[in-house]
Amino acid sequence: MVKYDTVLIRFGELSTKGKNRKDFIQRLFLNIKRTLHAYSALTYRKTHDRIYITLNGEDEGGIREKLKTVFGISSFSFTAKIPSDIETISQTCLAIAQESDKHTFKMITKRHDKSFPIKSDEINRTVAGNILRNTDLKVDVHDPELPIRVEVHKNETYITYEKIPGAGGFPTGINGKVLLMLSGGIDSPVAAYEIMKRGIEVEAVHYASPPYTSENARKKVLDLAAIVSAYQGAMKVHVLNFTDIQLAIYKTAGDPYAVTLMRRMMFRLAQRIAEQNKCLAIATGESVGQVASQTLESIACINSVISIPVLRPLICFDKLEIINLAEKIGTYETSILPFEDCCTIFDPKNPVTKPTIKKSEFFEDKFDWENLLDVCVANEECIMVYPQEDTEDFL
Ligand code: ATP
Ligand code: MG
Repeated sequence: MVKYDTVLIRFGELSTKGKNRKDFIQRLFLNIKRTLHAYSALTYRKTHDRIYITLNGEDEGGIREKLKTVFGISSFSFTAKIPSDIETISQTCLAIAQESDKHTFKMITKRHDKSFPIKSDEINRTVAGNILRNTDLKVDVHDPELPIRVEVHKNETYITYEKIPGAGGFPTGINGKVLLMLSGGIDSPVAAYEIMKRGIEVEAVHYASPPYTSENARKKVLDLAAIVSAYQGAMKVHVLNFTDIQLAIYKTAGDPYAVTLMRRMMFRLAQRIAEQNKCLAIATGESVGQVASQTLESIACINSVISIPVLRPLICFDKLEIINLAEKIGTYETSILPFEDCCTIFDPKNPVTKPTIKKSEFFEDKFDWENLLDVCVANEECIMVYPQEDTEDFL
């Protein structure tokens, strides 16, 4: 049996050069090691354009699933690592063909080291000839069932028949840090994923309104944070008690402007937490037109209270696209649990869809919200969450 005991990892968007490229690879290398930290027998090696992991008997299936979550990997393969000589290459490829139940194949050889004396075309021809003579497989160059990939380096050669797509994007953390407003809904966890994919580390802020929101609602948000934290390793969540602010808004402004004012307060708080934690922008799961507070008029009126940039990765996504992504990243089932977060519980009947800054300020002048925000930030609770199955390893 051919042993596929070396994982060969190809990088993603490597248009970056020089020092950026070095940082990219180093960060990816650390992120991969952290993601696979439970597999202690693995050994790692990195070069300027590949990362290699030797399995040393560790569980292939688990590693395969984990690697699919690491941003910055364009694809990876479980390969047979053999010495770079044509006899061994040919024999190994033949063994792969013989062990397979497929009917057609194609040889795809790349000489990484051009000093290897036999050119790629010739390797392809020699190996294919050997397979054709000794098996019933036929060549299909357009749509082969068994593409056999050979990558020849100076001393060793990697052979595989599968190329597993990676998560793409940039290694998380390479592009700075953002504070995401995380609710218990469907959208914001997906926004977290999209931001992480661009190489940005995500820290979260959640506004809770106990006792109007339950312990279950809070747990749901932390569970969601734990699920998406798998894509970056861990996540800091700032939980703010929003009850007094919310009650003051309802007392002062009543129904139509309540959501607008609430969201203006949320953004002000987010800016403060972001600045305290060196986050260069804040982020939300907003999408144009989805609810009253997400019309362009609302977004403009709410955004006007802060100066920090706001990233809205889902701004033009359809709800269905967002749901599909939520299912893919594993947050959907948790997001649809029926526990109220602070917006739904105070949901007014007739929220204004075209709020104005002037009218918002008119209401805000009526109460001492600055003081309420100070108290809210001073009493923040800061919680570190970890990918669920990893919790014990980190404690
Ligand atoms: P989601 O599914 O993410 O909750 P939504 O469609 O319910 O979004 P809104 O409730 O208007 O829309 O929230 C818009 C965005 O505001 C959310 O995506 C999130 O970023 C932020 N947000 C809403 N409620 C909270 C909260 N309680 N704590 C932190 N952020 C919140
Ligand atoms: Mg919501």
